[in-house]
Amino acid sequence: MRFSVALLVALALAHAWTSAAQGLRRPDADLPATSELDNGGTSAQQLGSALRPLSDTFVATRNGQLTDGQEFASPPPGEFVGDEWARYHNHDEMVRLLQDVVNNSNGACTLDELDPPSVEGRVLYAVVASPRNPAGGAVLPRPSFTWIGNMHGDETANRELLLRLAAGLCNGELADSDARWKALQGSTTVRIIPTMNPDGYERRTRWNANKVDLNRNFWSVEYPYAKPTLDQARKRDRYGATMYPAADMWSKVGNFTLQPEAVAVSRYLAAAPPDLSANLHGGALVANYPLDACDSVGALTNCPTAEEPLPRQLAAAYAVHNPNMSAQGTAPFRAGTVQGAAWYPVLGSMQDWVYHHLDRLMLTLELHEVKDPPATALDDLWGQNSAAFLRIMELAGMGLRGRVLDQQTRAPLAATITVTSPASSRPADADAARGGYFYKPMAPGVSYDITVQPYRPNGGAIKYLPIQLKGLRLGVAADRVTAEGSAVTGAALRIERTLLATRAPAANKKKKMLRATM
Ligand SMILES: [Zn+2]
Repeated sequence: MRFSVALLVALALAHAWTSAAQGLRRPDADLPATSELDNGGTSAQQLGSALRPLSDTFVATRNGQLTDGQEFASPPPGEFVGDEWARYHNHDEMVRLLQDVVNNSNGACTLDELDPPSVEGRVLYAVVASPRNPAGGAVLPRPSFTWIGNMHGDETANRELLLRLAAGLCNGELADSDARWKALQGSTTVRIIPTMNPDGYERRTRWNANKVDLNRNFWSVEYPYAKPTLDQARKRDRYGATMYPAADMWSKVGNFTLQPEAVAVSRYLAAAPPDLSANLHGGALVANYPLDACDSVGALTNCPTAEEPLPRQLAAAYAVHNPNMSAQGTAPFRAGTVQGAAWYPVLGSMQDWVYHHLDRLMLTLELHEVKDPPATALDDLWGQNSAAFLRIMELAGMGLRGRVLDQQTRAPLAATITVTSPASSRPADADAARGGYFYKPMAPGVSYDITVQPYRPNGGAIKYLPIQLKGLRLGVAADRVTAEGSAVTGAALRIERTLLATRAPAANKKKKMLRATM
C-alpha cells in the first residue's frame, strides 16, 4: 500500500486550510461546457451564463433562482410530508438519524467518526453494516463495499438515498424484503459515508467551506502526475480548450491545499481499503468509470485503467439495473456508462486516487440530473436506484481474493501478487497485518496467470518460493444484454484461496560469505 498516514497527518498539519477562490470560470466543472442537462427547469447552460457576472458567493437554488451563498447558511425548511424518506435532513437531523439507526440495529451496525472533522468542525460519519454472523467459519476478510455521498454539497439527493440505504440495512428491512439483500448482508461489509461535505451541504454549495472542490483535491494527497505549471495552465486557457482542468486548479489555489474532508476520507479508505466503492454525485445520469486523467494537463481522451474490461463492466452492471440511466446513450455515454476522461478530464479526483494508491476500483455514479431535486422526488429516486445499489454491492471483491500463510507456522505473510497474463493487469499486495489478505480484481471471461511471491514484512533470512496460479477465470453470464453491452453476474464472481508458502532451501552461508568477500 503506497500510502502513509504519517505523511497525510504531516501534510494536514503543515497546511493552513484556507484558500483564495478567484475567477471561477465554470459554475459547474462537473458538466461539459455544452451540457443541456436539466437543472430545476433551467438548463445548465442558461444557469452558467446567468451566474457568470456574479461573484462566486452566489449559488443557484433548486428552482434556478440566485441566492447569496454566504447568507444561505442553513438549508431551506424541510419539505416534510410525513415520511422520513420524503424529506431532506440537515446535518443535525442526519446525525440524530444515524445514531438512531445504529442504536436500533440490534448490533448489526456501528458508527465510525472520521478524523479530522470538516473545515467548520462537522464530523464525517460512516455507518458500518457488518455481517450478522461475523465468524461464520470465514477465513478471509469479508468482501467490502464503501459508499461516499454528497462530495459536492449542492448535489443533495444521493445523500438521502444513502441514509435510506443505511437504515434499511441496519434495521433489517431490506434483508426481510428479499433473499438477495439478506445474502448480501450475510457476506459483505458495507460502509456508508452519507456526506463527505457537510459544510457544503448546509450552504448548498459545490465546494467545502474553503471553496475547494473536493473532487479535485485528491491531487494534494498523492498523485502520479506533476502539477502543471501556471504557464501550462494558461496555455490551455489561451488556446480555447473547452475543458480547463488545469486552469481550474490554478484559479482555485486551495485545490492544491489538502482539505480536512479529503484527509478524513482518504485516511478512512486507506485504513481498510474497500474491495469496491462508489462516489455519488448529481447533475447527470451516468456510471463513470476510471480513470479521470492520464496525464498532467488532463487531455480529453479515453483513459481506461489496466483492469479493463472490469471497470466498464462494473459501470454497466450498475446502469442496467437503473433503466433511466442505461437509456443514456448519446456519445460519449454508452448505455448509461462513460469513461471518465473521455467525458471530461478531472485532475485530482477521488476515483483516480483510489486506483493509484489503494489498487482498488471506485465508480463515480451520477444519480440525478437535477442536483438538488425536490424532496417529493426522493422516493422515485430510491426506486430507480435500489436494485442497482444491491447489484453493485454484490460485485464487491470480484476476482481473486486470498490470503498467504507460512506453511509451517500458519503465520500471515506479506506478498507481491503479479499478473503475468494479461500483461497489462497491475500487481497487488498481500498485507500481513490484515491476515495476509490480498485482493486482485479480475475481469470475467479473461484468463489470468498470477504469481504470488510471499515475503516477511520485516525482512529476515527466511525466503519463500513463488506460488503460481495459472488459468484463473471467472464465469460470465449477462444480467441483461443490451445493444451497448452487458452486465456481469453468475455464481463464480470470486475465486477464494488460502495459499501456503513453502520456505526456500536455506542458502549456503559459506558460499555467500565467500562471494561477499571476493
Ligand atoms: Zn458532483
